[in-house]
Amino acid sequence: MPRQRQRSLKIGQTTWNLKTLFANDSDGRMEKNRELVKLKSYEFINAWKDRTDYLEDPRILRQALDHYESWKRTYNSDGDEGYYFWLRSHQDQNDPRIKARFNKIEEFSKKIDNDSQFFHLRIARIKPEQQSIFLDHERLAPYRHFLERVFAESRFYLSEPEEKVLNLKSATSYSNWTKLTSGFLSREERSIRTEDGTTKQRSFSEILGLMSSKERKVRDSAARAFNSMLSKHVDVAEAELNSVLANKKIDDELRCTPRPDALRHLADDIESEVVDALIRSVAKRFTISGRYYGLKAKLLKCGKIKYHERNVEYGEVAKRYPYAASVNLVHTVVGKLDREFADIFAGFIHNGRIDAYPKKGKDNGAFCIHHLMTQPTYILLNHTGKLHDVLTIAHELGHGINNELIKKKQHALDFGTPTSTAEVASTFMEDFVLDEILGKANDELRLAIMVQKLNDDVSSIFRQVACYRFEQELHAEFRLKGYLSKDEIGRLFQKHMAAYMGDAVEQSEGSENWWVYWNHIRYFFYVYSYASGLLISKSLQNAVKKDPAFIIKVKEFLSAGLSDSPRNIFLKLGIDIADNRFWDQGLDEVENLLNETEALARKLGKLRK
Ligand SMILES: [Zn+2]
Repeated sequence: MPRQRQRSLKIGQTTWNLKTLFANDSDGRMEKNRELVKLKSYEFINAWKDRTDYLEDPRILRQALDHYESWKRTYNSDGDEGYYFWLRSHQDQNDPRIKARFNKIEEFSKKIDNDSQFFHLRIARIKPEQQSIFLDHERLAPYRHFLERVFAESRFYLSEPEEKVLNLKSATSYSNWTKLTSGFLSREERSIRTEDGTTKQRSFSEILGLMSSKERKVRDSAARAFNSMLSKHVDVAEAELNSVLANKKIDDELRCTPRPDALRHLADDIESEVVDALIRSVAKRFTISGRYYGLKAKLLKCGKIKYHERNVEYGEVAKRYPYAASVNLVHTVVGKLDREFADIFAGFIHNGRIDAYPKKGKDNGAFCIHHLMTQPTYILLNHTGKLHDVLTIAHELGHGINNELIKKKQHALDFGTPTSTAEVASTFMEDFVLDEILGKANDELRLAIMVQKLNDDVSSIFRQVACYRFEQELHAEFRLKGYLSKDEIGRLFQKHMAAYMGDAVEQSEGSENWWVYWNHIRYFFYVYSYASGLLISKSLQNAVKKDPAFIIKVKEFLSAGLSDSPRNIFLKLGIDIADNRFWDQGLDEVENLLNETEALARKLGKLRK
């Protein structure tokens, strides 16, 4: 077969073209758009707010949902203006006029949100007998999973007055607590050794970063300061965390949830048995992360890695990747996977959907954003030419491709991705682009990149699963004993950290307090989603590498949006994600990379004593 050569992409505009929304910040069409949003919103609200027949008759519910869907598709409560000023505020964070305009439209949309809330709430309160009639009714088939999601949440609702009390009390009994320790820590400063050899005053977050400095004296000095800050606040954190755990226990008892992580799974549209299979499979292979740290200790020539040193970079990735070259590299890789991926990317490039370079006042992160189904997707980057920046293009493009595929197949109420699989497309593209870069790098560079990649994978998969198990035991122990001392919490924490890190990492003195600053344990059980997204992605990569035609199934999954739970979507493709073997395939990918990295290090003579 003749090989088709892909033409290289011409880079046009490297800032967002927002003209499909508005010409500029003072475009006269904004006023008209706002009037239209108001008109369409109250058309919907007034049509349904005094009716109850749609809560009984499936045919009428279908009409109501169609109306709701078409409103959500094009207008919602903020139309084009909300999206436009949101985007503008990320291009220019320092312009108070943009902030003011954004706040105004927020205020406008909040009123509509409140006035339209009745619709969702009333559907949620439909009686269970009626729910099953609706779910089985063919007229409602397009909205079946939307209804399932609403009904599933409502299973654990209390009565309206009870919900109101819980809501009013939630700041004082929960969220104020969670802000307490982090508030104290953020105000801390210490004098530490810096990379230019002098001693300087540094903030809590700067010290956190300096613990991964390549200079041992700097990172050790930062770690001493960090540990002293944590130990200063550990008593407060003990009281705080016990309150947070008690509050969660009370909520769970009131709502009769079957287990502490049940509401998280429900919100993420993932079955508990799927999460259990994931956690079990990863924990069974903690030997992979243990072996990785063993390799890293040898490469860093340090015997054992101290707890705070586990993210220290190995080697140097000095190669530079200009934007145009990076875009073309990513374009080629995704084009080899599937023609449509490359076309979507070319569309983004040609239509000004990507804001590429750092600029004063611009958001300094990276993201891919969508709002209404009828509005364009935009990507924000801060490309400086590092390897990481190339992978970021691939990552955000993955989200963008996911969006565009969903738009083609789903309606507005299923437009989106659940948290449990939100990072599948992004990491899928990222890993294939990294493979391409590795194929072209010399051995020293390859080793440095592979070690960094393993470090990221180990942190996203094994560390997060260890953290999840720590959380599970924390809630269980608290419910058994009624109160946990800082020593007990510290012992549990170290037990789970040691389990995934293995013998090569020291559970250094002071590290028993590192739970103090771990915020996500206060928000309960979401950390599994880092592992689920990446491992699903790796399992799919594994399948595509064995059979390139499998990409058809990957696309079906990426097109499905919120139309069913991830488990059911995969079942339709003949894959059971509640089966350990699915997760093992993803873990095999990490193990393969580890094997290759070890072999390369040996070949380069890095593993001799
Ligand atoms: Zn992402």
